[in-house]
Amino acid sequence: MSELLNNFVAGRWQAGSGAGTPLFDPVTGDELVRVDATGLDLPAAFAFARTTGGAALRALNYGQRAELLARVGAVLQSRRDDYYALSLANSGTVKNDTAVDVDGALYTLAQYAKWGAELGKGAGERRFLLDGEAARLGKEPPFLSQHVQVPTPGLALFINAFNFPSWGLWEKAAPALLSGVPVVVKPATATAWLTQRMVADVVESGVLPAGALSVVCGSSAGLLDALEPFDVLSFTGSADTAAVIRRHSAVAERSVRTNIEADSLNSALLMPGEAPGSEAFELQVKEVAREMTVKSGQKCTAIRRVLVPAALYGAVAEAVSARLAKVSVGNPRHEAVRMGALVSRAQKAAVLEGLARLRTQAEVLHDGARQPLVDADPERSCCVAPTLLGTRDADGAALVHDHEVFGPVSTLVAYRDLPHALALARRGQGSLVASVYGSDAAALAGAALELAASHGRVHVVSPEVAATHTGHGNVMPQSLHGGPGRAGGGEELGGLKALNFYHRRAALQAGSAVLGALG
Ligand code: NAP
Repeated sequence: MSELLNNFVAGRWQAGSGAGTPLFDPVTGDELVRVDATGLDLPAAFAFARTTGGAALRALNYGQRAELLARVGAVLQSRRDDYYALSLANSGTVKNDTAVDVDGALYTLAQYAKWGAELGKGAGERRFLLDGEAARLGKEPPFLSQHVQVPTPGLALFINAFNFPSWGLWEKAAPALLSGVPVVVKPATATAWLTQRMVADVVESGVLPAGALSVVCGSSAGLLDALEPFDVLSFTGSADTAAVIRRHSAVAERSVRTNIEADSLNSALLMPGEAPGSEAFELQVKEVAREMTVKSGQKCTAIRRVLVPAALYGAVAEAVSARLAKVSVGNPRHEAVRMGALVSRAQKAAVLEGLARLRTQAEVLHDGARQPLVDADPERSCCVAPTLLGTRDADGAALVHDHEVFGPVSTLVAYRDLPHALALARRGQGSLVASVYGSDAAALAGAALELAASHGRVHVVSPEVAATHTGHGNVMPQSLHGGPGRAGGGEELGGLKALNFYHRRAALQAGSAVLGALG
């Protein structure tokens, strides 16, 4: 039997009492390790995090916590090679895809450490944040209202998705720890190994105070029951699980503040008037092929719908297909391979099933099923080559706008004019990101504003940023990550604004002498 990974709760490593759920190598099918959380005393574990971890973190100021983040980053950096090996084994990723997860996490931690250090200078020794200016309520002598933000005295529970075992933890933990809030992470079972190992390395380093970081691997049973009113919950995953969470009494009755990042039918829009082969055309084609293949399309931000003027449908189909045909898919250990596997057999089955559904309403423009795999058994491995679908019936193909296939699948959609294209983008019912490609700055600005209300991020690519833009799907800590509607309604990152989620805002009504004594 494979090794059973421990959970780290209440300041010590604890094994689940069950047999455990196995984690597999998605390329070879080999069992790697097992995870289990059966029998953990979660209420006691959470109490320890709140009291011991929370108190220790809140005793520090923002500058000191920023130093902790920098030291956590240094610990992780020193073990980076191990994480690449784990990701290869458990997520089936090529190096470039691991970088998105592992190096993306290191970058985000470093960025929050930097912002936190700046914040620390401004806030000095303060352990709270001033929120805006004081407003006068009374006449002379003045009676004032000053808003402050104080760290919530609970814990932050992260329930994460399988596709970012590293970044998914640290993009949330960085603002939480900087805010003074202890973290409990429950990674998705399929890829929990990397998260567990990173937590183990940080625990072993002794950088963080006891109770500041815990990990529960295995079933989510009992986690939400153990939440209390001042805790916060950040969930990333499917809309179905999100709906279960929203109905739970922790959220519905105890008002646990909740951030939800869920499914998204993101789009990439080529503006009208761009000629085939123009720079904007090529930029869109390149980005679509890239987004379909990075992490085998298992990115919440990946392009699912490619919106193009009807007259360019054939040209874009040809150009994207030509790029996809060059992507070698298979065992990431083979040096010729550029795209690895999906993370599990369950995901492979879900992708193939979703593809079959979409094919009832869309034609196949580039068929991944015809592509031979490199050094990978088509039956045993979870490798699936990219498939480009297409429809000229943009309005009739409802599934294309509604069904997220979480893999290397995108659908080309022909539109009539710009209002039609914008309406189609909005048919995603709220998405994480839309990218827009064109060369007319005024038209791009207008389209971006039109899309802003229904998207968390609008990524505008014009020739002037061809070489410098950060990519449609890359989530940068400087920008908001999240989206309205079916994307879950969440907001993460976006610089120091991310700290708001981990703070409680209160109005202090008092005279100027009292407010002046706040520090
Ligand atoms: P999922 O099945 O919803 O699982 C997400 C997490 O929730 C896992 O840790 C899972 O644990 C846990 N979970 C399952 N049932 C639960 C319950 N009843 N109560 C509490 N937690 C529960 O999603 P997934 O398949 O891992 O992830 C893929 C989806 O995530 C895609 O739809 C994708 O769009 C979305 N996603 C969104 C973002 C974003 O930022 N918006 C980022 C990444 C992924 P187990 O693994 O143990 O079941």
